[in-house]
Amino acid sequence: MEHNIWQQKWVIGNWKMNGDLHGNNALVHKLRNFPVADKVCIGISPPTMYLLQVHNAVQIVLNNKIHTCAQDVSRFAGKGAYTGEVSAEMMKDVGVDIVLIGHSERSLYFNEKNDIQRLKIENVLNVGLLPLLCVGESLKEREDGREKEAVAYQLSVLKGLKTKNFAVAYEPVWAIGTGKIATKEQIADMHQFIYEEILSLCGKDVNIRVLYGGSVNDKNAADIFSVPHVDGALVGGASLKYESFAAIISAAQEA
Ligand code: PEP
Repeated sequence: MEHNIWQQKWVIGNWKMNGDLHGNNALVHKLRNFPVADKVCIGISPPTMYLLQVHNAVQIVLNNKIHTCAQDVSRFAGKGAYTGEVSAEMMKDVGVDIVLIGHSERSLYFNEKNDIQRLKIENVLNVGLLPLLCVGESLKEREDGREKEAVAYQLSVLKGLKTKNFAVAYEPVWAIGTGKIATKEQIADMHQFIYEEILSLCGKDVNIRVLYGGSVNDKNAADIFSVPHVDGALVGGASLKYESFAAIISAAQEA
C-alpha cells in the first residue's frame, strides 16, 4: 500500500562520503527486512557513485519501501560539457526520489550559497523529484541571537517556486557531527518558525515536512520526535550502522 509521505515521519540517512559495495548491500538488505514501519518514510542517501546500487537493492520491497536520496545534484540541467557533474535528469534516470540541497558541508567546502541552491532546486523540481533543502545557523549566528535571520535568509530560496511540496531539514551547523544537540525548546521554536516562513513564502495550501538534523542517534531520537513540528530526522553518523539507524526508525514509528 502506498502511504502519503506528507503524513509520515521521514528518517533519511545521509551517508556522506562513506560506504562501499559490500557494506552497502549488507546494510540495505537488513533495512529491507526491518519490521513494518508504515508511519515512516525511510530514505538512504549514499554517495553518488552508489545511487544505482542502492536503488537496485531497494527495488524488492519487503516490509518497507526505502527511498533513494542523492546528497547533491548539478546546478546544470540535462547534458553537456560540465566535467564531473551529475544532472537531476540522470538522478531521475537511475531511480532517485529525493535530493538533498544545500547541506552545510556543501556550503563550507564548496562555497555553495542561495543562488546555486536555487538553480539546483529548480532542476530537481523540473524533473519531478523532491528537493530536501537543508538550513541551519552557525554557532556564531546562534550566539549573536541571529539564528532566525540566518534561517529566514536560507529559506528565501523557496520564494516563487512552482511546487506545493516543501521538505526542509533544520540542521544547526554546530550540532552536525559534534554530538551537541539543540534543546527541545530550541528545536520547537525553530521548527515552528520554519513552518510559518514556508506558509508565508509559498501559500497556505502547501505540504510541509520539517526534519531535524544534527547528532540524532538511537538514544535521543524518541525525545526529538516528541517535539511539535518535528516531522522526522536527517541522520548522519548514526545512519551508517544498522542498529542505530533501525532504532531511530522505530522511534519515528512509535512517535
Ligand atoms: C548530517 O550530515 O546531515 C547530520 C545531521 O550529521 P550527524 O547526524 O552526524 O550530526
